[in-house]
Amino acid sequence: MLRRSSVSNSNMVSRILIIYTGGTIGMSRNPETKAYAAPEHGYLKEKIKTFASLYDSEYEFCEGDILTDHEPRATPITMYGRRIIYGIEELETIVDSANMSMSDWANIAKVIEKYYTKFDGFVVVHGTDTMSYTASALSFMLENLGKTVILTGSQIPLCEQRNDAVNNLLGSLIFASHFIIPEVAIYFNNKLFRGNRSLKAKCEDIDAFDSPNMSPLAVMGTHITVNWKSVADSTSLLPFCVQSDMCSEVVMLRLFPGMTCSTLHHFLAPPIKGAVLLSYGAGNGPDAREELLEVFRQVCMRGVIVVNITQCLTGTVSVEYNTGKRRWDLQDSLHCKSLTHIKQYKKSNLTLTNVLSDAGILPGGDMTAEAALAKLSYLLAKKNLTQEQRRQMMVTNLRGEMTVEVSPNVSDLFLDSDSYLSKVISALEVSSQKEIQALREAILPTVMCNAAGLGKLDKLTEAVQQCVSVNKADYDGRTPLHLAACEGHCEAAEFLLKNGAIVHCKDRAGNTPLVDAIKNKFVL
Ligand code: ASP
Repeated sequence: MLRRSSVSNSNMVSRILIIYTGGTIGMSRNPETKAYAAPEHGYLKEKIKTFASLYDSEYEFCEGDILTDHEPRATPITMYGRRIIYGIEELETIVDSANMSMSDWANIAKVIEKYYTKFDGFVVVHGTDTMSYTASALSFMLENLGKTVILTGSQIPLCEQRNDAVNNLLGSLIFASHFIIPEVAIYFNNKLFRGNRSLKAKCEDIDAFDSPNMSPLAVMGTHITVNWKSVADSTSLLPFCVQSDMCSEVVMLRLFPGMTCSTLHHFLAPPIKGAVLLSYGAGNGPDAREELLEVFRQVCMRGVIVVNITQCLTGTVSVEYNTGKRRWDLQDSLHCKSLTHIKQYKKSNLTLTNVLSDAGILPGGDMTAEAALAKLSYLLAKKNLTQEQRRQMMVTNLRGEMTVEVSPNVSDLFLDSDSYLSKVISALEVSSQKEIQALREAILPTVMCNAAGLGKLDKLTEAVQQCVSVNKADYDGRTPLHLAACEGHCEAAEFLLKNGAIVHCKDRAGNTPLVDAIKNKFVL
């Protein structure tokens, strides 16, 4: 498996489980009436065999290819030298995604849980209409995820001669089998989006999905470009697990001019426990409508968690949570063109936004409505949390669903003058930031592999502080975690895991760090 490196030429095999849930992609056409029939069991499984890029009918399966519960299928070897062996699991009910419910999300999550150790990655075939909701929900339900989970579908069914289904399916299989991107993502029209940042933006376009507040995680053109800096690192030492319970007592409410108190009151009445409020602009509400604000106040006092996100396609709702007051910050100044504008903006927004936060409504940052709803539903169903802990988690970034400000050029702060990198920089008389960055990216992964193999925590820390990925492999595909595991350096291994090292990375021989540790008789 490849991670933070370009695809290799080694002739290896990856196992992927396709989970089929329904959607346009699997619709067939009635030959007489020419009407599309709803997706049915068994159809996709057979249809896929008619596409040479998805199904190699001549491949002879060997013993190691056997999948216990699924008929194994194989793609031809990819241009990166990898054979994808895949099985297809159909959900018990295959649906148009407009009919999806929270129990369907749970069923998908349970299938992934059941087969987590048996496959390298997962592709969920899904209708496009509610794909972003499912992707957002799964991103929370799959806890401590260390493997790639990709949702895909199509605007034109597989049964049509011209379709986007083959491209989307193949691209998803390639991403899930060639890269470890430990996230729930959506692959559509050559772009890989973080699932909980995505939304269906166009209903009659092949380019149907977008993630307005975040650029794609990866793009498939003539080459595959992965934006590794955006890919989430899994930093937990806890094992993968699934929270299949979601709270269904949640609503989504779009503010509109003239909304009545009684509408609001009924909408938020018990048993509702959480609400996503889509407000105006940067989180604004009607400050002159005291009676409406009073309803919000009462609802929040009753313990309902209300989270404020914007109706705008891009932008953020940011209020300093601790005080419940709006903070005048960088984000605001970005919207302002002049000092007078800043003063006006500050004055108006301060008043308008405070009314919602003062009523007890939480700021949702730049979350999509889909992500906010899924997060709320997930947190409300989480046991052993106080309501205050839930509120705190709601405004905290859990799965990359909201943008977190980082101070600029943080890596420059750690250019320790004694470090190996500094010595190379001064020996080569390099001075431009661009050259320093290029050197950093070339040298530090080697330094890190070396430090991991020797168990040198100080050097590992230094490299991590310089924002170097802990997953860059050496010429043999061995990551720092392989080297630490191989030499039995427990502290170094733990440090790497806490800083985003991927446990499932395989080296050129197909071994994971755990296999290396066992081979060398070390138990971490
Ligand atoms: N209505 C379909 C669905 O979401 C649309 C599609 O798949 O494109 O299941």
